[in-house]
Amino acid sequence: MEKLIDPFARPISYLRVSVTDRCDFRCVYCMSEHMSFLPKKELLTLEELGRLCSTFIRLGVEKLRITGGEPLVRRDILKFFQSMSQHLDSGALKELTLTTNGSQLEKFAKPLYEAGVRRVNISADTLDEEKFAQITRWGRLPQVLRGIDAAQAAGLRVKLNAVALKGFNEDELFSITEWCAERGMDLTWIEVMPMGDIGNEDRLGQYWKLDDLRSRLAEQYTLTDLAESTGGPARYVRLEETGQKVGFITPLTHNFCESCNRVRVTCTGELFMCLGQEDRADLRSALRNHPDSDAPLEAAIRSAIARKPEGHDFDYSRQTVDGRVSRHMSHTGG
Ligand code: SAM
Ligand code: SF4
Repeated sequence: MEKLIDPFARPISYLRVSVTDRCDFRCVYCMSEHMSFLPKKELLTLEELGRLCSTFIRLGVEKLRITGGEPLVRRDILKFFQSMSQHLDSGALKELTLTTNGSQLEKFAKPLYEAGVRRVNISADTLDEEKFAQITRWGRLPQVLRGIDAAQAAGLRVKLNAVALKGFNEDELFSITEWCAERGMDLTWIEVMPMGDIGNEDRLGQYWKLDDLRSRLAEQYTLTDLAESTGGPARYVRLEETGQKVGFITPLTHNFCESCNRVRVTCTGELFMCLGQEDRADLRSALRNHPDSDAPLEAAIRSAIARKPEGHDFDYSRQTVDGRVSRHMSHTGG
């Protein structure tokens, strides 16, 4: 079967799938406090998600990341992970992973490991209980810390994702780094992105340039650039003193679109060829109108990949949030 290659000769080997728009947290940069969520019939069923992912895997996807919303609040989501194990067993899928806020990991870490998951990204922007409650609105840090413990105890490799927020976690740069180092965890800093319209949050005020974060880190550690690339907008360094990897996801200050190997599917079955662009393809009707054949789905995927743009247009440099897209991160899954 011919693999997916986009018009810029980039093979599409990485799929991120959002399995729900719901979440048990309300992080201020991601959701408003009173979100309205999609009616259930709009969402792909677990069976449809399974067909969709299996089709992408047949077309060359080797890495599958499950996200949301909070993926682990979706009912029966474990069954979906278990159904993806077959592709790990066959060797077609090299990695099955997820991004989670960690709140449900105490319960799910072990069964996820048993389903073949080996690594998880857990998001937490602060290690201070009060600040954590403030930034996530509904989240509670001790629950997440228990989730991280459970993940590590189950044998999962954990990477911490932290959104870099000016005036919020700047003062925790070193304490978070050290905490991760002590626990053998890698760490990735994410620049806050202009997603969704969530009220009064001053997006330009929150924006902490990762170049600045990196220079501050270099005052205390020896940073060695790592050549490895995941094809995404992340670049990595090794801290020689601790041995840990620190990543910087900088879709705004730098643009790494040229090596982009990924596409995203929302929980309603919309395929986004680029996180920063509005163009999308509806895969749900191909799934629903043709329950017995994956051929129309495959055709819809191929025609969408043929339109994958070269890159996105986010730009903070003119002091306006140019190139912003109106959907929330919980919709496309970050
Ligand atoms: N609920 C899960 C979690 O928080 O890890 C998965 C979904 S969440 C949308 C995925 C990632 O996107 C998280 O690391 C979160 O911090 C990040 N994120 C959400 N809104 C963002 C924004 N406006 N800018 C940058 N990152 C954002
Ligand atoms: Fe939920 Fe993740 Fe968004 Fe926070 S960042 S509100 S945990 S989806």
